[in-house]
Amino acid sequence: MKNPQCPKCENQKVVKSGFSGGRQRYKCKKCNYYFSVNKIGKSIDKYYVVKALQLYIEGISYREIERILGVSHVSVMNWVKQYKIKAPENTDYRPTYKVLNHKELINFMSDKANLTDTGMLITELGDKFMVIKWERFKN
Ligand SMILES: [Zn+2]
Repeated sequence: MKNPQCPKCENQKVVKSGFSGGRQRYKCKKCNYYFSVNKIGKSIDKYYVVKALQLYIEGISYREIERILGVSHVSVMNWVKQYKIKAPENTDYRPTYKVLNHKELINFMSDKANLTDTGMLITELGDKFMVIKWERFKN
């Protein structure tokens, strides 16, 4: 995906800056203007639906999913209802997650201790990667 240009000063140097309502947010490096681009069409909406439901099944709370994906927790609740998703109950562990860029991910993976006994899942998230771990295996 190519970065858009700033709607205020038309500068091409913009950087990704999180998500806002499921849309990629950008910051202009020249005038510091924040803007988001509504380029997430129906196909990507579905992508977020699947991601949200995956996270839900993994035991991540609605609020956390909202924070991770930038879609409202109400949407996630609706999808859970709509697709009749039932997450297995678990009380003895909680997933933890971090968001890494590619280089950080490589560093993270190069340490075998990070991969062992964690039930790790890596999922793509915009231009970054999210690593979810289940620490129940580690005591
Ligand atoms: Zn600008």
